[in-house]
Amino acid sequence: MTRLVVVGNGMAGARLVSEVRARDPHIRITVFGAETGRPYNRALLSNVLAGTMTPGQVRMLDAEWYADHAVTALPGVEVTAIDREAREVLTARGRREPYDVLVLATGGEAVVPPLPGAERAVAFRTMGDCEAILAAAGTARRAVVVGGGLLGVEAARGLAGRGLPVTLLHLAGHLMERQLDAEAGLVLGESLAGLGVEIRTGVTVREILDGGVRLAAGAGTGTAAGTAGVTAGTAEATAASPSGAGEPGAGESGAGEEIVEADLVVLACGVRPVTRLARDAGLAVARGVVVDDEMRTGDPSVFAIGECAEHDGVVYGLVAPAWEQAAVVADLVTATDRTARYRGSRPVTRLKARGVELAAMGETHLTEDEAEIVRFSHRTRGAYRKLVIRDGRLVGAILLGETPAVGTVTRLFDHGGPLPADRAGLLFPGLSGGAAADSPVRMPDTARVCQCNNVTKGRIRSCWESGARDVAAVAAATRATTGCGSCRDAVEGIVGWLCEQEGIPA
Ligand SMILES: Cc1cc2nc3c(=O)[nH]c(=O)nc-3n(C[C@H](O)[C@H](O)[C@H](O)COP(=O)(O)OP(=O)(O)OC[C@H]3O[C@@H](n4cnc5c(N)ncnc54)[C@H](O)[C@@H]3O)c2cc1C
Repeated sequence: MTRLVVVGNGMAGARLVSEVRARDPHIRITVFGAETGRPYNRALLSNVLAGTMTPGQVRMLDAEWYADHAVTALPGVEVTAIDREAREVLTARGRREPYDVLVLATGGEAVVPPLPGAERAVAFRTMGDCEAILAAAGTARRAVVVGGGLLGVEAARGLAGRGLPVTLLHLAGHLMERQLDAEAGLVLGESLAGLGVEIRTGVTVREILDGGVRLAAGAGTGTAAGTAGVTAGTAEATAASPSGAGEPGAGESGAGEEIVEADLVVLACGVRPVTRLARDAGLAVARGVVVDDEMRTGDPSVFAIGECAEHDGVVYGLVAPAWEQAAVVADLVTATDRTARYRGSRPVTRLKARGVELAAMGETHLTEDEAEIVRFSHRTRGAYRKLVIRDGRLVGAILLGETPAVGTVTRLFDHGGPLPADRAGLLFPGLSGGAAADSPVRMPDTARVCQCNNVTKGRIRSCWESGARDVAAVAAATRATTGCGSCRDAVEGIVGWLCEQEGIPA
């Protein structure tokens, strides 16, 4: 009987285990997880931080599931080495586990910049981090989030939503610079400011203090938050105020450096693939563990999936690619489909920040010289929409602020098909009889509603026809909404529309 060993019980590892078991009831499965407790949906930690979900709601497989499915799960057990010759993994506790197939799903770890005092800050990656942040937020008077990428923005918005004054510090000139152009970054910053997050871009953090953060001189531009102003003070006064005692504010030190006061500092400075095991075992590692289209490393019995893997030069930091990769490996390992291959993903980033709608995808930074750009900006309404078109196809888009166009635009990006000539109609559904809005009625059955789980409207419809009458039932049958959760409204809309058509109360 094939012995499958999975290292890492995060979103990719846990998914792989359930995909393999769904295909093959016999294969022997052992999964090691360095974190204690049940696996959980990491992407939903932002919702836990914001208080819209509880830790229990984001947990995934439980002990009963493992027992029922004859899977040996070893939480809190770290694998420390791979002996490829003996085909065994070794654990910190001295256990040796033999394998025929080994899958590395070791994920990523938060980058902690080598700053003096970094140990005073909390990173934002694990459930443990989330719990530590929440515990500190309970007594904190003021928070700073360092890093204005997706995670930093979600963390800052979540903390502000709990009533804590928050300053978001970002090194680059605008927020989420990987996904957004400068104008979109600015509009996002202004929207967040209206929700109580003070934004400072172009700033360099020099040190984490006991009670604040020291910035380099000449520290960037700011967008004052609607509810949390930063007032001037002195460095001495700030440093002398333990745990943020004293008035909220920022002070200048002698050399023109500035201190932003905070008694909770959250680091969201990026993620690095965890590759040490693979490297030590002599497997090829670039940024991540290098794999081919089968997600196989140079050793045919060793695969890598999720955030630790590098496919075709890309390390994906999102759930949908990790789950697609898990499905490919499950097909291959169980010989369900020997032709299964992973060909790369076209990920869509969606922000989970209450009061700010944002979806970004593809090549958003191309200029007018390189592509056709259609753009609309209305800063005072927090609206920014941009389509990037090359050879008549959508290669990138930013949709910021509420818009009924998200599903249609995402679908066009997803399929890569030719765009309708009426570009404005795409950005403004309904305008001059323009393209279809995201109404469940007009959405084609092939439209992918849940990106993470690849669930189309057609599947939701047939699931409804089989008796699923609410989102929970559709989720149980299709897994739609169980990834990053951003498709929940769309699924609800489709179910509601189907019920309405048949005169059934939703
Ligand atoms: C706050 C937050 C919000 C996010 N939001 C989104 C979102 O909205 N949409 C989206 O698509 N993605 C989002 N992501 C990213 C998404 O969570 C990751 O892409 C996904 O978790 C990657 O899954 P993974 O299994 O590869 O890694 P992980 O989930 O990190 O799991 C890896 C696991 O392996 C374990 N491990 C590592 N080394 C060992 C070892 N030697 N032995 C045993 N166990 C080991 C780790 O402890 C960890 O539990 C978010 C991430 C965070 C932190």
